Amino acid sequence: MKILVLNCGSSSLKYQLIDMDTNDVMAVGLCERIGIDGRLKHEAGDKEFISEDPLPDHDAAVTAVMNALLDKDHGVISDISEIGGVGHRVVHGGESFASSVIITPEVKAAIQDCSKLAPLHNPANLIGINACEKLMPGVKQVAVFDTAFHQTMPEKAYLYGLPYELYEKHKIRKYGFHGTSHKYVTQKCAELMGKPVDEINIITCHLGNGGSLAAVKNGKCVDTTMGLTPLAGIIMGTRCGDIDPAIVNFLMEAEGLSGKEVDNIMNKQSGVLGLSGVSSDFRDLDAAASEGNKRAKIALDAFHYRVAKFIGEYLVAINGADAIVFTAGIGENSGSTRKAICDYLSFLGVELDPEKNSQRGKAQMISVESSPIKVYVIPTNEELMIAQDTNRLING
Ligand code: AMP
Repeated sequence: MKILVLNCGSSSLKYQLIDMDTNDVMAVGLCERIGIDGRLKHEAGDKEFISEDPLPDHDAAVTAVMNALLDKDHGVISDISEIGGVGHRVVHGGESFASSVIITPEVKAAIQDCSKLAPLHNPANLIGINACEKLMPGVKQVAVFDTAFHQTMPEKAYLYGLPYELYEKHKIRKYGFHGTSHKYVTQKCAELMGKPVDEINIITCHLGNGGSLAAVKNGKCVDTTMGLTPLAGIIMGTRCGDIDPAIVNFLMEAEGLSGKEVDNIMNKQSGVLGLSGVSSDFRDLDAAASEGNKRAKIALDAFHYRVAKFIGEYLVAINGADAIVFTAGIGENSGSTRKAICDYLSFLGVELDPEKNSQRGKAQMISVESSPIKVYVIPTNEELMIAQDTNRLING
């Protein structure tokens, strides 16, 4: 069975075709600038294909993906019927979805309903679903939600200290994101530890350009750092993370800005980029800090400190952890980041193995055997998780 995984944005569409017998990625690609002009990049094994044919809309993009997959030269299938199902990444499932589901008209209506919570993402996800329904009739479609893994949070964790009526009226609460990644590394961690997933207590740290932590008790999420939106929690590449909420009004008055403009500052001009004035990329920050750039160093210090503080918070939330897991771009690749964060935990006996912490690309324990809380690096694989859920739902 082959599963097509789609991640549809407002002007982009990322895809992977995965062979579920081997978990191999048969083809991977990206359509960009949909509705502007259009560009498709497709890779299959050592073959690469780039097209700049116009992509006026998402129907055109899905058609271009189909053509690339079927192409005699760089294609990987000979007939659309070889695709057993399509798994769609959907950003916001609100309170309606605690797991992945086969897409029906009711599911689409519920995704539409959640658009007010993710106005940039859910409508784009729906456009992708509609395009696939039109162009691949009869192929089952599955929605996999970024928020679903976090739906097990108890009320005490997800409610904000706001009037309860606002939760009832607008569903203002903590939802959390990166759920597919947190779930994937949780399952992998259980495998590596040789324990059933419902017996592990861990803290998962998804540290990429966007970042979040999850507190996982008995395999289930009980708290996470992102909130109603992905702006909350740790300091990120360009997002500010948790700040005093009164700063919004203060900035609107002091700088004469609209709410939208403040939102833009907090989402796009803040985080380690805003603090350092150098870059949102940790490789640039590392280089600048080692050349003596003070603000780059402050940005890195603030990032490490915030992540370590949340780990402390979550150790309390789950009454001590078996393991801490690092994943995503920074978590998987930056040994110096992992070390700086784990140094805050040395008073608990947490100790990294420097040799293992310097390695990359491998799912493994990087703490010494005697560390009471083990530390793991586990490369995330959201696409595989989406494909596995899709396969499971379609084939029972
Ligand atoms: P992601 O959003 O998961 O794709 O992560 C992207 C981020 O990972 C980049 O912005 C970099 O900050 C970071 N990153 C990737 N490779 C490295 C590396 N070798 N060292 C430090 N940071 C890295």
